[in-house]
Amino acid sequence: MSCIFCKIVSGEIPSAKVYEDDKVLAFKDLEPQAPVHVLIIPKQHIESMAAITPENSAVVAHIFEVAAIIAKENGLENGFRVVSNCGESAGQSVMHLHFHLMGGRDFGWPAG
Ligand code: AMP
Repeated sequence: MSCIFCKIVSGEIPSAKVYEDDKVLAFKDLEPQAPVHVLIIPKQHIESMAAITPENSAVVAHIFEVAAIIAKENGLENGFRVVSNCGESAGQSVMHLHFHLMGGRDFGWPAG
């Protein structure tokens, strides 16, 4: 298994966990781009948003439920951003589906 996020799920690589259940893990990003920057990932290896199908999409809905919980726990009442970079042009650097939950500062739009 070479996927670094699968290694974080298995515990082989340590992470600063903020949420875990049987389907999902959330941990702090190593290079935070905002005061709160958490990555929320499915435990199951899914390469990216482009690999979402009717068979595996339920975990995405669950991830958004978890995002709302984490945002509330971190006091992000003023707002937050959830981003999933998909593929090379979008800057995806880890090929295991993940959602960046960022908050605690203002964000510009459009991003990038
Ligand atoms: P992306 O570039 O959208 O694929 O996002 C990958 C994110 O994973 C980046 O923001 C990295 O800082 C983060 N990252 C990479 N390795 C680790 C790690 N071991 N623990 C926490 N975050 C990581």
